[in-house]
Parts: sequence; C-alpha cells; structure tokens
Amino acid sequence: MQRVILQPSGNKDAREHYENTIQSPVSISVLAEYLTAADIELIETLYPDGRVPTWGVTPGKGNVNVNKWGKIQVGDVTLFSANGHVFGSGVVTHKLHNKDLAARLWNYDKEGQTWEYMYFLDEVNSHQIPYSQFNQVVGYADNFVIQGFSVLNEERSERILTAFDLMSEIYLPEVTEEEYMEEVLRLEIEGDLDTSHSGRGRKEQPFLRKRLFKNKKSGYCGICGKHYPVNMLVAAHIKKRSKCSREERLDYQNIVMPMCKFGCDDLYEKGYIYLKDGVIHKNLSMPVTTDLLEKIVEIEGQSSLHWNENTKKYFEWHAGKYNLTVTH
Ligand SMILES: [Zn+2]
Repeated sequence: MQRVILQPSGNKDAREHYENTIQSPVSISVLAEYLTAADIELIETLYPDGRVPTWGVTPGKGNVNVNKWGKIQVGDVTLFSANGHVFGSGVVTHKLHNKDLAARLWNYDKEGQTWEYMYFLDEVNSHQIPYSQFNQVVGYADNFVIQGFSVLNEERSERILTAFDLMSEIYLPEVTEEEYMEEVLRLEIEGDLDTSHSGRGRKEQPFLRKRLFKNKKSGYCGICGKHYPVNMLVAAHIKKRSKCSREERLDYQNIVMPMCKFGCDDLYEKGYIYLKDGVIHKNLSMPVTTDLLEKIVEIEGQSSLHWNENTKKYFEWHAGKYNLTVTH
C-alpha cells in the first residue's frame, strides 16, 4: 500500500531545495559521479530525459529521521507544504543513502548535517490544498499544522491519496512473490465477493503490474499491439480471475497480459473477441453496433504475441466460455 510522506518545506533550506532540485531536476550526469552503476542504470530507465527530481532528509537529532526514511517505498507520495498549504506532490521512484552526493547538491545545514537520506521523485505536481481541507480528510484537528518529516500510516495515507487522487499507476510498491501468494490464499479462504473490504486485494494488482510492466512508463497492448503509457493499460487475466484455481492464479507469468483501456480489455472480457491459435477473431454470436464492429474489424485477424504453449489453455477457456469452437 502506498503511503503519504509529509515534507514541510517552509524554511529557507527546503524552499531552495524544492526550487533547485525538484522544480529544476538534477541531471543524471551529476548523479553518475556519485552513484553505483546499478543505481544509475535503474535511474536511466526511470528518467529517459535524464532529469531527476531529487530530495533528501538529514539524519536529524539522534538520527530521528533515519527510521522514518527507512519506511519509504517506491510509489509513496510526498506532500510538500508551507504557509498553510500543501503546494506540491511527487511519487517516489527510488531511494538511496549518499552523503557525498547530498553535500554536493545541498551543502550542509547549521548543525553540520546534510540531506543524505535521499529519494527521487516523478509525477511532480503543484497543488493548493489548505491545511484545513487536508486536516479534515486525515481526521486531524482543524488547527493542526504539518510539522517535521513523517511517513503516515496506511489508513491515513489511503484517505489522502483517494481524496486528492494522488495514487500513482506507474510506480507501485514492491510486492514479493511470497506476499502475492499469501494474498491469493487469503482471498481464496475469505472469498472474493466482498471486494469493498478495506485491505483486500491490495497486493495483487501491484504485483502483477510490476511483473508485466517492470519500471517502464509505457507498454504494448497484448491484443491490438499498440503502444501506450502504462496507466492506459491493465493487467488483465486471460482466464477470468474469479474462475481461476489457486494454481492458475499463482501462474502469474502466464495468466495475465497487458490490455489497453481503449477497448481491448472490454472487448475481450465481454467476449466480443476471442483468440484462436493466437489470432484475434470476432465473436459472431454477440450483437454489435456498426461503430463497435468498426473497432473489432481494426484488430480482427491480428496475432497476439501472448499466445504460446503456456497461455493457450487460458485463451481456450475464454473462447469456450462463449461456446466458441477452438481447434487444437
Ligand atoms: Zn489494445
């Protein structure tokens, strides 16, 4: 679950940092002087334009900030605030500890500390959210003022991310295979009916999306083959998710594929199209309109790269659901 990081930025240092390394992102060539080859390789993938919004926190008195920074995960959303407003947000893409780089970017504060607990952002946006509105959403007292760097708990974070629509669809929290499997088993025991229950199914989509899209910002629809930003693609189950056995759900490398929101996901899910030997066919038994037919004709006859020996049985289940004959 993505969390919210509060980053009060009213003092002179913070204002300058926001201007110098968020609004004017840091060049990868500067980062490359200090970071490992592995970090730079990842950052190059994340920032193809080579400009990296960069932030950092000092260790603080008695290292008070170190544990808090330790909680930060990819996908968390930082809120910058000053003068009674949340004025900016950004999504965490990566974090690392590097004192020399911090000193180069921001020098040292009066206590001789530097902002060495660093994290990198994307999807940086401006806001004008008054504290009063923020406090109401979180459930804080009306006169609460954001003070000090902190990472909010999941419940508060979710309220904020939902209310202000800040959740990233690109940067997702790391979910391990074990966590994914645990969730699959839990959902199996509890049943899938009550999908509104808080905390349910939280890990499944991030896990599947991360495996499909890695850290890329764009990808290809497995049906029409078109290239889209990943927030226009879904991790779609080839065989209807609720009909999958435990083994099939755990077969995550084969059971899902990217489908675009421009129609392919629904055309497939609702059975207007099906695949036979890897080729897209129109389902003649479904009533269509002229305009819908036009959409289907665009992709009819195309092959999907996701059809293979391992995925075939799932496509066949889908075709079989609509009593469509699939030859082997
Ligand atoms: Zn598509």
